Amino acid sequence: MAKKKQNSAIIGFVALGCPKNIIDSEKMLAEIAQAGFLITAEPENADVVVINTCGFIAPAKAEALEAVKHAVDCKLNGTVKKVIVTGCLPQRLGRQLFEQTDGIDAIVGLGQRDNIAQIIEKTIHSSQPAAYLTQSPHAISDDRARLLISPRHWAYLRISEGCNHKCSFCTIPAIRGSFRSKPEKLILAEAAELVSAGAVELNIIAQDTTYYGRDLKMENGLSELVRKLEQIAELVWIRLMYLYPAEINDQLIETIAESKKVVHYLDIPIQHINNEILKAMHRPDTKDRLQRLIENLRPRLPGCLLRTTIIVGFPSETDRQFNELLNFIEWAQFDALGCFKFYLESGTGAAEMPAQVPDQVKQQRLEELMLTQQKIAFAKNKNRIGSKLTCLVDSVDNEGTGRGRFYGQAPDIDSLCIITNCSASPGQFIDTKVVGTKDYDLLVEQI
Ligand code: SF4
Repeated sequence: MAKKKQNSAIIGFVALGCPKNIIDSEKMLAEIAQAGFLITAEPENADVVVINTCGFIAPAKAEALEAVKHAVDCKLNGTVKKVIVTGCLPQRLGRQLFEQTDGIDAIVGLGQRDNIAQIIEKTIHSSQPAAYLTQSPHAISDDRARLLISPRHWAYLRISEGCNHKCSFCTIPAIRGSFRSKPEKLILAEAAELVSAGAVELNIIAQDTTYYGRDLKMENGLSELVRKLEQIAELVWIRLMYLYPAEINDQLIETIAESKKVVHYLDIPIQHINNEILKAMHRPDTKDRLQRLIENLRPRLPGCLLRTTIIVGFPSETDRQFNELLNFIEWAQFDALGCFKFYLESGTGAAEMPAQVPDQVKQQRLEELMLTQQKIAFAKNKNRIGSKLTCLVDSVDNEGTGRGRFYGQAPDIDSLCIITNCSASPGQFIDTKVVGTKDYDLLVEQI
């Protein structure tokens, strides 16, 4: 626990949500530290608790409200004095959040992120709940000078804010506004800053990374950006996340193929493959096009690993359409896959659609799909036994067991390499041999 400094409040910070939200948390942490506050990750030991929330789907909201409730309970017990809720949930719900949960002292929208230190100061001295909200879309943020939550050898690099797509299930455009590219100069400066602080891996994120530069009148914005990022000497791995499948063009594939730094790992959320469901989702893909994309990527990017995201139980999804999806997953052999049940979110088109699928059916489909994927992932892991992999070490415990990743494992969401005899330090690349598997993870030996 951090020790209390004279005249300085201790801030308990709870960082929830996706990598985009983690960047906001890291920026807020830097602002809070800069203002001279002490920081703890334990709300129970804080004077003020700040909870940076996600408001994307029901489970994320539930997790956020649970964290708020815990902080409010600490306040009622007298350990915590103020509770501040920031991020997507207040941006989405606005003042309604005060009605939904008693005991919140301030709510802070996305556009007020960089004012968090002043807001904390004001909240400490105020007896009235206050809302600090600005209308979305807000200006593009400068994400430099963050206090990283991730280990210093890897970081997220956000290249844009908001989304221009109209997926009928999604609340993101309503929460985070329309797509705004971060200026290239700012991204390159941020990347250089992260690398000079020790990052050897940058994970490029956005709501849709393929859309980068459209609003800046760039034709192949992501390709151009990647080619410039590659010039940063000490940067070793560049990983492209959240690629919108319909926008992956030849130029981008060529750029990745020619690059020595962009890893052959692509995160391509396809959501579904049945043409009627895709249409109802307002996604421009078709099953044929998705199939051709996968057939095209694998030979052009040797050793390419593919990750995707799927939604099951979208309104009107029939058994036949679900089975078609299941067959596609068996055919596509994704290396990693995240599956979500469809959640009815107010304000989205899909919430108004008839033929909502019962929760029990959604749950069954989710389990069936994940079981199918598990077999694929386990078989792929088994096939790797005996092969050699370069691993980036993430951590090493006192017994010399390391945790690391080869290029096909993204941080935080994918499986790991468990290094049984690690003599290297976090941030170092080592040669390893795969000797076994443990659930989704690979057991490797340093060689
Ligand atoms: S691409 Fe679709 S799912 Fe992704 S953030 Fe944009 S609207 Fe939402």
